[in-house]
Amino acid sequence: MVQTGQPVAETSTTSDDVLVVDDLRVYYDTPRSVVKAVDGVSFTLRQGQRLALVGESGSGKSTLATALMGMTKAPGRVHGGHVYLTGRDLLAMNRAEMRLTRLSEIALVPQAALNSLNPVIRVQRQIIDGIIDHAEGEKPTKEELNDRVQELLRTVGLTSSVARMFPHELSGGMKQRVAMAIATSLSPKLIIADEPTSALDVVVQRQIMETLGQLQEGLSASVILIGHDMGLIAQFADTIGIMYAGKLVEFGPVEAIFENAQHPYTQALIQSLPSFNHRLQSSGIPGLPPTLANLPAGCSFNPRCTFVMDTCRVNEPVLRNVGPGQSASCHLFEGDKE
Ligand code: SF4
Repeated sequence: MVQTGQPVAETSTTSDDVLVVDDLRVYYDTPRSVVKAVDGVSFTLRQGQRLALVGESGSGKSTLATALMGMTKAPGRVHGGHVYLTGRDLLAMNRAEMRLTRLSEIALVPQAALNSLNPVIRVQRQIIDGIIDHAEGEKPTKEELNDRVQELLRTVGLTSSVARMFPHELSGGMKQRVAMAIATSLSPKLIIADEPTSALDVVVQRQIMETLGQLQEGLSASVILIGHDMGLIAQFADTIGIMYAGKLVEFGPVEAIFENAQHPYTQALIQSLPSFNHRLQSSGIPGLPPTLANLPAGCSFNPRCTFVMDTCRVNEPVLRNVGPGQSASCHLFEGDKE
């Protein structure tokens, strides 16, 4: 078990654990201050688990994903913590080790597929380049690579003719499928999907999520889905982590989060969902997310919270157990539910 002085979500580790994130901190150095984009996040992910990280813009979700991929760039830096992928500390790897780990162990389906694809290189070449760059051992033959490309395209629901096409010839959904083919080309154990359906229409969104689920099941991989669409996430994930101002503020099984959310921010996120039966009762979250460079003292959510107490403006709450597999950081639960 990873020893840490920080509160964690799902602390116990077993041989089934694919990912252990332990007190991860990612900071940005700016001329005025140090911005704590990810500040002490800890959680564990089992094989086959589907975790959704949810929160408004600026909550630290994508910064966390970038750090897990070993792709944090200046002025950002990993300030502290550990990330264990199948027992190996990702943050301790050198560039060559990390290159061999990407795609074969951990892979990212990026937010904007077009930006991650080279518009003037054919799809087949881009898939093959990924395999050659990241595969360990003997280089596959040309025939093996071509066969693999066809197999990957089939798996993500694309026809073989897409291999000869350029990304600019593809629809948004097709580009996202190509990005998924590249991400799964070396059968990773963990797939991180960073808002994979943003800018897609609702029908295509659903199809992309179905394909992502099929890929995950086919590989017995774990998934971290990053997003803010609670409706879409409810249908895909089995576990939800709610992020606010760089911290994990609630974590638990999807049913518990939707039926018995404990943190006032989680409750507000769920209440902001349009409901078929209660369309007129859905409401937005008052106020705006805080500026990370100038966080309020105490609980970062206190200026927007309808349950705010004096202590909330002074003392920062810590994540604590609030139910089976469920944890939340809020002064409302101190002392009575540990
Ligand atoms: Fe609201 Fe206080 Fe809980 Fe923060 S700690 S969510 S301000 S009740």
